[in-house]
Amino acid sequence: MKILVLNCGSSSIKYQFISMTNEKVLAKGQIERIGTNQAVLTHYFEDGKSAKVVSDIPDHNKAIEVVISTLTNTDYGVISDKQEIKAVGHRVVHGGEKFANSVLITAAVKDKIHDCIELAPLHNPHNFRGIKACAELLPGVPQVAVFDTAFHQTMPATSYLYAIPYSEYQVHNVRRYGFHGTSHRYVSERAAKLLKKKPEQIKVITCHLGNGCSISAIENGRSIDTSMGFTPLEGLVMGTRCGDIDPAIIFYIASRQGLSLSEIDNLLNKHSGLEGISGISNDLREILKQMNAGNDRAKLAVDIFCYRLKKYICAYFGVMNGVDALIFTAGIGENADQIREITCAGLECIGIKLDAAKNRNTIGTEGLISAKSSKIDVFVIPTNEEIIISRDTRKIVEAMNRTNREIVE
Ligand code: ADP
Repeated sequence: MKILVLNCGSSSIKYQFISMTNEKVLAKGQIERIGTNQAVLTHYFEDGKSAKVVSDIPDHNKAIEVVISTLTNTDYGVISDKQEIKAVGHRVVHGGEKFANSVLITAAVKDKIHDCIELAPLHNPHNFRGIKACAELLPGVPQVAVFDTAFHQTMPATSYLYAIPYSEYQVHNVRRYGFHGTSHRYVSERAAKLLKKKPEQIKVITCHLGNGCSISAIENGRSIDTSMGFTPLEGLVMGTRCGDIDPAIIFYIASRQGLSLSEIDNLLNKHSGLEGISGISNDLREILKQMNAGNDRAKLAVDIFCYRLKKYICAYFGVMNGVDALIFTAGIGENADQIREITCAGLECIGIKLDAAKNRNTIGTEGLISAKSSKIDVFVIPTNEEIIISRDTRKIVEAMNRTNREIVE
């Protein structure tokens, strides 16, 4: 079975086309600047060969049409007919409380995903557009939704409720949902493999550190807490997001500086975090370069980033009464050995001790970076959300095919 995995954003679509026989990525790529006549498709196929095409792509329908025609292109395509696409798996950002697992997309599911738009107005509409476009362009091909929030639906109320009037939850759905669930799930399952245990037998802390950052406490294969909240703004310091702050700061900024709510929203989401503190960039590579050249504000941004992360690691160690492993993933987690080093320094008290050389040498690959004497194993595990999406899609579509066969028989 060959599966198309799609991640539809506002102006970009990322895709992977995976053969499930051996989980091989046959092709992958992305279209950026959708909505302009200068949209750029970058397509990778066959051992790193690539093709780049600039064209007029006004909307998601056209973008997905281009993805399909690229996959079937005689020069750089990987299939001869679109009928070889047996299923589509979509990354959907928000499933609210309606979805604790991946699901086959039916008319009823589409309605529910649509209902979740008010919880994720910046993301779900584009996921929804992608689903609609596929239904038109690949009629009859089953589609599956894999939600970023689903893995965290196992959190207990003690983790997901805020101490605000209960009616905010009951009537208005205000609660912690958590995000990056597919990534936390992938790396925690992978850690179980590396520890030669089942996910149900281990307790792990997973740090997804990309442009957005979140950390999760995962006990016996179930997320029991995570740092992102009602929205992805809460928790760790991120590229441009502030993470945890005193909510009263919002009222203070509004009254003292006369900023509107949407201006403050913009300030906290787009101009805070590493960029806000350093005044340099949201790109950690640039900040580390400046820090290592002696820039104090860059150092401050890095120190605050690592300090917040360290506090969460200790909190989750405490709530789980100890852990088996700590995992770093995503752009920063996989590549920034300095961040891992600063964060883990002084955590010998909870049994974490890095091996300096292993940490320095593990860049962008999987590896154990803790010292032999460390009570807790520390791993770098490159994330792979697409493989989880393709596996869930395959499982659901195969189950659907079995059921249909039984009905026919
Ligand atoms: P996204 O959340 O958009 O998927 P990524 O997971 O790609 O983001 O992570 C992007 C972050 O990773 C950026 O802050 C970038 O600076 C950082 N990063 C990527 N490579 C390195 C590296 N070699 N060293 C330090 N930081 C890196």
